Amino acid sequence: MASSRDSHPTIPGLPSPLPSEHLLRLLGRIVRESGSRAFLVGGPVRDMLLGLPLGTDIDIAVERNPAQVGRALARRFGAEFVFHRRFLSGTVSPVDSGRIDISQTRTEIYPRPAVLPEVKPANVDDDLVRRDFTVNALALDITPGTFGSLIDPHSGRLDLARRIIRVLHPDSFTDDPTRIFRAIRFAVRLGFEIDPDTLSLMRRCIRDRVPARLSPERILYELRLICSEPLVLQMMEAVLKERLLHSCFDWQAPRSLLPGLQRLVSSPAQPDSAYIYLLSLLPVTRRFPITKLERVAAEAIRDFPAIRDRLTRARRPSTVYRLLKPLPAPALVVLSCTETGKARKAVRLYIDRLSRIRSSVTGARLQRLGLRPGPAFRRVLDRLLEAKLDRKVKTAAEEMALARRLVKQRQERG
Ligand code: ATP
Ligand code: MG
Repeated sequence: MASSRDSHPTIPGLPSPLPSEHLLRLLGRIVRESGSRAFLVGGPVRDMLLGLPLGTDIDIAVERNPAQVGRALARRFGAEFVFHRRFLSGTVSPVDSGRIDISQTRTEIYPRPAVLPEVKPANVDDDLVRRDFTVNALALDITPGTFGSLIDPHSGRLDLARRIIRVLHPDSFTDDPTRIFRAIRFAVRLGFEIDPDTLSLMRRCIRDRVPARLSPERILYELRLICSEPLVLQMMEAVLKERLLHSCFDWQAPRSLLPGLQRLVSSPAQPDSAYIYLLSLLPVTRRFPITKLERVAAEAIRDFPAIRDRLTRARRPSTVYRLLKPLPAPALVVLSCTETGKARKAVRLYIDRLSRIRSSVTGARLQRLGLRPGPAFRRVLDRLLEAKLDRKVKTAAEEMALARRLVKQRQERG
């Protein structure tokens, strides 16, 4: 495959000096000392050519000695280096509050569709052949002497200019159907079109249900990435339009998904809210690798309709409190955005006010009033909190008076 190698700063579109050029030159020198060439690869090169800022995480590919390079960089930056021998890659961190990922340039062989590939060391041109899209199959040489040469064997720069997402070969999506999620994510994030041939390949793969062969772990990883993007709504719209989740899980998304997501993204929710909301709608099974908190939160959102009616009919704040208290905080944050009308109001009331209210009468105080610890204890404390929630008692003195009355009643009952 012919590779076009132009020297910086003649490359149209590349800023001069490069963002973080000082750091890149330093990295190149250190890698050279370890006996290898060094390349900035993938996303950072794409983003640089688009004039976007370089993130704090830098991907460097080296043709030889990745472990030695990693150790040398860690020494230079006073950072830690963790190497994964199986993946021929490692991470140096922290570096300028970010990290540097070092990977051996490699070829990948897919033994079967949708399973992880077998990996073997190779040169940079082979390393670019295994990549997902032409716009991500770019490398910038940062070795001293050839610093700034762009390696672009698949016309990635042309596709960047034409704003197109294109796979490198027809089997790309079958080899790795996670690339379908990635195509949608990059197309929406960058405002690019998916090339018509690539779109046909993608749709055929979806129709043939190849994505169903992916492990739930890999599908969820992609969904989590989508959920953490600012344009998550538009990305999920595309995912549903292409029936990608149907292809993965044989699952029909409920109509409420997009309106709920829209309400979520237009409110100041937590970073993982969109993902938890999505989990609450997906057919989550025991095989799904999610944390206990994510599972419990997703289940609470899914089961919310069972309490919605009672919640909207509740007249007393203490009823709202009792219904919502068992729900974990991440579920409440999601529901405070995705619900509408009275239900949303009730959830907000709980988050903003009711959940913060505490009775000023403590257990120790009740003991001093003569109540012995036991089941009655809990009941008295609950009654006190209820009275405070419903504003039947307004001052600490009123609370104390009520506590005395309740303890007395208990004692009289024996
Ligand atoms: P982002 O800005 O989201 O980090 P990125 O292009 O850097 O975008 P990464 O997921 O960080 O994407 O991956 C780094 C590079 O590794 C990609 O640019 C691409 O070249 C390659 N890559 C990642 N995932 C795949 C995949 N599933 N198949 C082929 N190549 C991939
Ligand atoms: Mg990246």
